[in-house]
Amino acid sequence: MKRLIEGFEQFRNDVFPAQREVFRKLAGGQNPSMMFITCADSRVMPEMMFSTQPGELFVYRNIGNIVPPYAQHVSGVVAAIEYAVKVLKVSHIVICGHSDCGAMKALQYPELVQDMPSVAAWMKHADVARYVVEQNGPDLQGPEGLRCLTEENVVGQLEHLRTLPAVAAALASGQLSIHGWVYDIAHAELKAFDAQRGCFVAIEPGEGRVPEATPHARFSMPTASAA
Ligand SMILES: [Zn+2]
Repeated sequence: MKRLIEGFEQFRNDVFPAQREVFRKLAGGQNPSMMFITCADSRVMPEMMFSTQPGELFVYRNIGNIVPPYAQHVSGVVAAIEYAVKVLKVSHIVICGHSDCGAMKALQYPELVQDMPSVAAWMKHADVARYVVEQNGPDLQGPEGLRCLTEENVVGQLEHLRTLPAVAAALASGQLSIHGWVYDIAHAELKAFDAQRGCFVAIEPGEGRVPEATPHARFSMPTASAA
């Protein structure tokens, strides 16, 4: 606890005074344009990774960066996504997995969570990744197996994300883009799922284009036709 209190004191003395105006404006409301869903892992710090300011990123974190599919399970993350899309009207949702993820290791070695019924039940939402890797690469084990599970889990959670009605509607109208990323802790690298190519590709800052996991907006109001 001492560590937290000292840290807050440092923030209040060293950081806050220089940004007093920012915090004064933010006190009246938030208007982030991006939602970032990632793992609860203490090594993944979105605000540090993206050099973002308070109010810029709507972050939700849970074990395994999981989004349960619609109607199966009412969860905090699903409620947060609905809020982000309907009220904050975010333009982007990123689901970001990471290297050395304990949740992905639990998919690889289910015995790791056998004494944790709640964790084991939660990980069922990631079972699609385990199944896809098992069926397509039964010999993939160790670090390579873990990498594949981590990527497949992001792809699987993107599929779940699309089942949420608010997300499906915003995708159809073009209000929203969704992205699937994996963060490498040791090398400070990001890879993004490129839906067109069906694989993860490195994000190179400066290149401009970031691959999307989104189908393009496809809903357009019928134009009035001459009867
Ligand atoms: Zn993790």
